[in-house]
Amino acid sequence: MTATERQALIAALQWHIDAGAEDAFSDEPFDVIALRREDPPSPMIPLKQEPSSAVITPMAARPVEGTATLRTEAIKLAAAANTLDELKAAIASFEGIGLKQTATNLVFCDGNPEAPIMLVGEAPGADEDAQGKPFVGVSGQLLDRILKTINLDRKESDPARSIYISNILNWRPPGNRTPTPAEVELSLPFIERHIVLAKPKLLILCGGVSAKALLNTETGISKLRGRWHDFRPRTPGIDSTGFSVPAIATYHPSYLLRTPGQKRAVWHDMLNIQEKLRTGLESKT
Ligand code: URA
Repeated sequence: MTATERQALIAALQWHIDAGAEDAFSDEPFDVIALRREDPPSPMIPLKQEPSSAVITPMAARPVEGTATLRTEAIKLAAAANTLDELKAAIASFEGIGLKQTATNLVFCDGNPEAPIMLVGEAPGADEDAQGKPFVGVSGQLLDRILKTINLDRKESDPARSIYISNILNWRPPGNRTPTPAEVELSLPFIERHIVLAKPKLLILCGGVSAKALLNTETGISKLRGRWHDFRPRTPGIDSTGFSVPAIATYHPSYLLRTPGQKRAVWHDMLNIQEKLRTGLESKT
C-alpha cells in the first residue's frame, strides 16, 4: 500500500468515527441522551458541608496534535467578531470542525443576551440539533426546572429574571458522544469570544466538559462544583479588555437524570447563585 493510499484509508476511518460509527447501538430503542458520559458519581455532599477546596490541576499548556493551523484560523475568525450576530456567522463559516458536516443545524444560543447570567453547557444533542437551540431536549427541560427554583427563566423578557444559554460546541457530536479534545480546543476561541461579547456578570459552567474547558483544568466536576472561580479568556487575541467574571461549576442535568441523588448538590449550587445575586452583581454595561 502506498503512503497516499494509507492516508486516504485513515481519513476515511476518521470520517466514520466523526460520523458516530464507533458508537454502539442496540436492536432496541433507547435514550441516547441519558447515556451521555459525564464524570463518575461522587459521594453525596451534605447541604451544610462546605465544598472541598481541592487543588485545581491546570491543563498542560500544549495544543492538541494537528490542530495548530485550524486553531489559528478559529482564533482569527472569533477575534474579528464584534457582535453576537457576527460571531454566529464566523462559527458558521469555520470549516475546521468535522462535526459541521454531520450536524443539521448550528446551535448558537437561547434566552436573553441582556441577562446578567450566562450558562454554558457541553454540546447539542439530537433535539438541539433539530431545533438549532441549546438545551431543548430532556436534559434542557430539567435545566429549566432547576433554574425556575431560583426564579430564572430563559423566556423572560426582563433581563434580571432571564438567562442566556450556550454550549462549548456549536455542532452536535454524532450519537451524542463526548466531544474530543481537538473539538473542544477548536471551539474554545468561539465560546470565549461569545462570553466576552455577551458580558455576563455571572457564569454557570454546566457539566465537566464546560467547567474543564473554560477553567483550563483537568480537575473533575465533582471537585470543581459548588464554589466560585474566576473565568478569564485564555486564548490569545480573544479579549483586549481584561474581561473576567465569577463562574460557578455545577453538575450537568443529563448526569442528574442518571444520578438523581446529586440533585441535592445542584440545589446547593443554585442557593449559592441566589446568594450571589442577592448580594449584588455589578450592573451590565
Ligand atoms: N446538553 C448540553 O450540554 N447542551 C445542550 O444544548 C443539550 C444537552
